Amino acid sequence: MKITLNPDEEIVKLIREGLEKKGGYCPCRREIIPENKCMCKEFRDQIADPAYEGFCHCMLYYKSLED
Ligand code: SF4
Repeated sequence: MKITLNPDEEIVKLIREGLEKKGGYCPCRREIIPENKCMCKEFRDQIADPAYEGFCHCMLYYKSLED
């Protein structure tokens, strides 16, 4: 399993700007709650799920099942 950044540098730049504006909370979600601090609970759960492969909700990170 490995986590990589989205290869699209424009998306990475936009999401990182969004994260900075929100003080580290997910730019794609409205609530400022601990679950939404990057890496958010949803993505941590997806990382823990042995069957999940794909992007996090914001598409900043990609989880691949291969090393
Ligand atoms: S969806 Fe991605 S960028 Fe947004 S908080 Fe979760 S891990 Fe971070």
